Amino acid sequence: MVRAIVGANWGDEGKGKITDMLAKESDIIVRFQGGSNAGHTIINNYGKFALHLLPSGVFYDHTTSIIGNGVALNIPYLIQEIHSIVEKGVPKPRILVSDRAQVLMPYHVLFDTYEEARLAGKSFGSTKSGIAPFYADKYAKIGIQVSELFDETVIREKVERICETKNVLLEHLYHKPLLDPEELLDTCHQYRDMIEPYVCDVSSYLYDAIREGKTILLEGQLGSLKDTDHGIYPMVTSSSTLAAYGAIGAGIPPYEIKDIITVVKAYSSAVGAGAFVSEIFGEEADELRRRGGDGGEFGATTGRPRRMGWFDAVATRYGCRIQGATEVAFTVLDVLGYLDEIPVCVGYEIDGEVTKDFPATVKLEKAKPVLTTLPGWKCDIRGIRKYEELPEKCRNYIEFVEKEIGVPITMVSNGPGRDDIIMRQG
Ligand code: GDP
Repeated sequence: MVRAIVGANWGDEGKGKITDMLAKESDIIVRFQGGSNAGHTIINNYGKFALHLLPSGVFYDHTTSIIGNGVALNIPYLIQEIHSIVEKGVPKPRILVSDRAQVLMPYHVLFDTYEEARLAGKSFGSTKSGIAPFYADKYAKIGIQVSELFDETVIREKVERICETKNVLLEHLYHKPLLDPEELLDTCHQYRDMIEPYVCDVSSYLYDAIREGKTILLEGQLGSLKDTDHGIYPMVTSSSTLAAYGAIGAGIPPYEIKDIITVVKAYSSAVGAGAFVSEIFGEEADELRRRGGDGGEFGATTGRPRRMGWFDAVATRYGCRIQGATEVAFTVLDVLGYLDEIPVCVGYEIDGEVTKDFPATVKLEKAKPVLTTLPGWKCDIRGIRKYEELPEKCRNYIEFVEKEIGVPITMVSNGPGRDDIIMRQG
């Protein structure tokens, strides 16, 4: 049985917490896209962790954690992340890395940084983790596949080819020091030795696991609105954030993904530039940011203050549809307990017309929010474990959102901890 856990919004919906929680009853947890450019914050009996590359299931000793072929694999980062959790007392996790994953190289980070500097005011707000140059190279067929690290002839040739094209850009576009093929080759050798113990034919491993009836979680990074194709292009990430891509980025048949748990945040937050229709500013935003998440809404990778907004039903309905959501986990609801009234964005006004459909970016840039207001419940709902015990106004908020997005809300998260969850069905 394969389940995907993915985001409906701009990321930071709390997927890490839901994955950590569901990993208890799972055998295998797979990262299938993205890299170390976004973080998942997890709080459990070992402490508080910000994971960037490891799947959020690494905290149990019965699970296997997998880095699928779709991931941007930063090898030293992965090794360092493994050390950092073991140092905090977590049992050494079982980790497998796909032999078809591609390697994020130091020059990807450099190119990301140089390009953001070159674009200056028009930059994409990249986390400068090298993700865009990495995926560009992958599709330009000058990426380095893990398997290639183990063939000296192939890797030598690849390195030469990479230096040829990269050095033209470094010299003439960025005016920066050139890459040295020997140095690069040396890095590849080091990476080969670091990754060797983990390398595996992941697709074949998962094929057998599915046939043996194992429970597999696919953990998505970021959310629908950051998807390269279906998100707010070009202010998107450079890999697909959708559950459908889980089949490709893990190497499993698409029809095996039976359940798509889409994580939806009770209000909106986003990092980086791009249209954000229900965004709020000033003191109103500062207060929500301060109270949001667990100790404030600041990026887990960059520490940047997140942009804040009210719940956006238009964007979230679209986000759920494009994920193919079968159920929704509704998170950080406890944060809204301070508000007398809670605005919700239920429509977009574009060129004088109101729509409930999420448009492509050019139109989206013109959209103004149509807001409605729901009464707040004005109390702390943390610690509640039964749906009926939530205040009526809180249930009304949940049920209003459920109706707007058209997908059953089966889980309500009312705190950052593993047990802060209300199961509504099943
Ligand atoms: P992810 O990338 O989707 O895993 O999300 P992040 O980890 O970046 O952001 C979610 C933040 O919200 C983290 O700090 C979590 O600890 C916190 N969090 C998750 N669920 C809840 C919740 O229900 N209530 C509160 N207050 N915080 C939550």
